[in-house]
Formats: sequence, C-alpha cells, structure tokens
Amino acid sequence: MTFSCRRCGTCCTKIGGRFSKKEIELIERGFRNLEKRGIRLLIDPKDMSVPLFPDEIEVMLGLAEEIGIDFRPRPKLVKDGEIIEWDLGYSRCPFYDEERGCMIYSHRPLACRAFPVIKIVDHFELLDLCPEARKFKGRDIEREFPQECIYAERFFERIEREKRRLLQEGAGAGIRTRATGLGSQRHNL
Ligand code: SF4
Ligand code: SF4
Repeated sequence: MTFSCRRCGTCCTKIGGRFSKKEIELIERGFRNLEKRGIRLLIDPKDMSVPLFPDEIEVMLGLAEEIGIDFRPRPKLVKDGEIIEWDLGYSRCPFYDEERGCMIYSHRPLACRAFPVIKIVDHFELLDLCPEARKFKGRDIEREFPQECIYAERFFERIEREKRRLLQEGAGAGIRTRATGLGSQRHNL
C-alpha cells in the first residue's frame, strides 16, 4: 500500500484547531526557546493553521488580488514590533474551491507541499489530520512519502536558517520567519 491522496479537502478546510495534543506540545516546546529570546507568539497553537514565510505571503496576497479573494493572514511571531512569521489565519483556506481544489496549487506554500509530513528536529512525523496518512502510522515515512519529506526537509532547513539569523542579528532587516511545519495539501486541480 502506498499513500494516495484522495482529495478529500480536509487539509484545506479543517485547518484551524486541527493539531493533536502531542503536536501542540511539540509546537509549544519549539516556541518556548524563542520566547526566551524576545520573540512573541501571537497565536495560540490550538488556533494555528498554515505557517507562511514572508515571501509566500507576498505571492499569496498578489494572487488573492488577481483572483478576487479577501485574504487576511494573521501575524504569528513578533520581535521588537516586527512581524517575523505569519499564519494563514483561516480554518478553511480562502484559496480552496470545492470543485477545483487549491486555486493556487502551483504557488502553494511550502508547508502545503510537505503535508502530511513534518520534520521534527531529526525525524519525520505524519500529521493526524489527513485520514489517508493515518493508515501509515508506524511505517517508514521517508520511503512512503519521499516527495513530501523533501519539502518538509526544505521547510525545516529554512526555519533553522531563519532562526539562526534572527538570533544572531535580531529582528530588523525586513520581515522574517520561523514556523512549525503544519500546512496542507496534496490534491491537485
Ligand atoms: S492530503 Fe489532504 S486532501 Fe489528500 S487525503 Fe490527506 S487530507 Fe485529504
Ligand atoms: S493547498 Fe492551497 S487551498 Fe490548501 S491550504 Fe494550501 S494554499 Fe490553501
């Protein structure tokens, strides 16, 4: 049995409040260290949806304007008054269309590309939200989800890079980010 997205849309329409208790604990642990360094988390992990890098926000805002969508992402992490990471801000993604699926599929954010995989420090985990992925619990994630693992790895590396930069330089040179790796989506148009 290999993973096959059945395009149920769950990962795009039930995003907020979707994390399991264990996932919330992992998220909170990750943020605790940042808080010690003056980075404030503005969203309760229970309400988080898709984490977005600043350049992704820019692309999505542009696409939203083109398509005619009222897209209002939420600031998520702030340091010295500067927003360094965003959250999609919706439980149901405004870019999701019942018939077409993701309307920005080829531009979807990294977290959506990695879904249902996240990287936690040195290993990959599957997010509970995806009903198909649940069938793979206990299996070799890298083998069963090779493409998603590549994106999850990229996501993780980017977070780590940004985190290092933030901690070395402090906030101040534009909007920066750090995220927790929970996005959505595998189904196509
Ligand atoms: S990846 Fe998303 S659309 Fe595909 S089966 Fe999982 S929850 Fe459903
Ligand atoms: S894949 Fe597309 S529709 Fe789904 S959450 Fe991501 S951006 Fe939204």
